[in-house]
Amino acid sequence: MEGIGVSNGIEISKVLIKDVKEEIPRYSIEDISAEILRFKSAVEDSIKDIENLILNEKLAKEEMEIFDAHICMLKDEEFLRFVEEKIKTDKINSEWALEKGKQFFVELFNSFDNEYFKERSIDLIDIINRATNKLLKKEELNYEKIEGKFVLVAHDLTPSETVKIDKNKIIGFITEIGGKTSHVAIVARMLGIPAIVGAKNILSMVDNQSIIAMDGGNGQFIINPTQYDIESFNEKKKIMQIEENLDKDFLDKIPLSKDMKRFQVACNLQVPTQLDEIVKNNGEGIGLLRSEFIYMDRKNAPTEDIQFEIYKDIAVQMKEKPVIIRTLDVGGDKEISYLNIPKEENPFLGLRATRYCLKEKKFFKTQLRAILRASNFGKVKIMFPMISSLKEIREAKNLLQECKKELDYEKIKYDEDIEIGIMIEVPSAAIISDILAKEVDFFSIGTNDLIQYTVAVDRLNNNVSDLYSNYNLAVLRLIKMVIENGHKNGIYVGMCGEAARDVNLIPIFMAMGLDEFSVNPSYVCRVKRYMSRYDIYQCEKLCKKVLSLETDEEIEIILEEFENQNKK
Ligand code: PEP
Ligand code: MG
Repeated sequence: MEGIGVSNGIEISKVLIKDVKEEIPRYSIEDISAEILRFKSAVEDSIKDIENLILNEKLAKEEMEIFDAHICMLKDEEFLRFVEEKIKTDKINSEWALEKGKQFFVELFNSFDNEYFKERSIDLIDIINRATNKLLKKEELNYEKIEGKFVLVAHDLTPSETVKIDKNKIIGFITEIGGKTSHVAIVARMLGIPAIVGAKNILSMVDNQSIIAMDGGNGQFIINPTQYDIESFNEKKKIMQIEENLDKDFLDKIPLSKDMKRFQVACNLQVPTQLDEIVKNNGEGIGLLRSEFIYMDRKNAPTEDIQFEIYKDIAVQMKEKPVIIRTLDVGGDKEISYLNIPKEENPFLGLRATRYCLKEKKFFKTQLRAILRASNFGKVKIMFPMISSLKEIREAKNLLQECKKELDYEKIKYDEDIEIGIMIEVPSAAIISDILAKEVDFFSIGTNDLIQYTVAVDRLNNNVSDLYSNYNLAVLRLIKMVIENGHKNGIYVGMCGEAARDVNLIPIFMAMGLDEFSVNPSYVCRVKRYMSRYDIYQCEKLCKKVLSLETDEEIEIILEEFENQNKK
């Protein structure tokens, strides 16, 4: 069986089920004021609980914001009035009135054609469940009382449930709903616990006596595995652990080929909490800061000051190491509700990233000014995504120039020589990379999109996912061309798409002379370890062979063979 693997790791364990739905009691009441008091004290107790949680748990900034929002919701007059009115007019108990409030507000939030409100309904359910549990005197899952280790299986996990997870007892989780970027997926990666989301109907297939084998990498799970299944999952786990231990030896090493050619291994950052991971894994900078996280999960666009503080904090913490801030890559699968981008037939081919920003100049300049101001506090670089023509680069650079002039006039400092780069993720940009290279200081190849646009295969569409391959010959030829064109024009070329961490391709990119590999922090040591296995001559020979092949499948086989031969 399969869901979406969102956090790597293999576990075989007993199941702990959360979410067995309990009936909410409904009964008539006589003493309305006493019932309202009972309701109010449940709300107050819930607020106290959240305040304690904020004080006692080590929370990331965004989590803190979520719980602050929960307190605001619990104090919201409209919400409190609705429930009190229900108690009064229907003469019903608080639990039932709360349930009615839940139905009303969740429906209301979902009726807006607005992602922000839809996402907020999960917070609303969280706070109402909390207050209902208080009324029912139902205890939350108390990890102290749980003996043993479990894989937690749930329909979904709310933010307050995920932050309380005790890593020593919950060693993995599987939920019925959720996507790669859902809260539960992010928390799982932060905790380093394997996780699978989107495992439809799993609750109807397990009970508390079930055993589950799960692979958070590929999303596969087996309920009540046979001895044979257990052995093969354990074998895979053993191999992963051996690999992880081997990686650790490379923590303090610099990235070098066997014959001492120097490469850079930097990190991609999508949420600020990953910064600790980057430092811990010794990343040589941030090769891609996906600035979208600053824009998401809020009611309106972040101001220049909000953005400046975030960029500055990151630049300062990275000390002298470079931080490449990619300007907003909205559109495609990244929806930001308050921007009101019209619904499009083909959003990946539509008003996305720099295309949107160049239409909304004032909005774009807010981000450019914030990045420029942060450049005074570290080694900040700026990168434009989704570039498909020279005109777009020139327009973006003109806007940057305008921002610099404004800051000069306001006597605000910034790095006058801030480096400007572009992502090469559209085939047209790759094909004219000889021309584009003359306009910028660096390229970063975004293979996630370069593959989808070159092969014409939607990166999210499961029906065509077999066509989406890192080993596509057309894509490899384009990558080679981009690196050559960059170098002929004296600029450096990095790669921040997922292909940069594909161990089979590392020797190919080394042969092509890729300067920087930017990967998820947990892959830094692995990339360095694989680099150290090969000398450049060997890589060049392999690369020549690969580029002479004709199908993706042949390429994959040759690369795997090479990787196996060079295992240490
Ligand atoms: C890419 O396209 O390779 C990339 C790194 O950008 P994103 O995945 O954010 O589109
Ligand atoms: Mg991209």
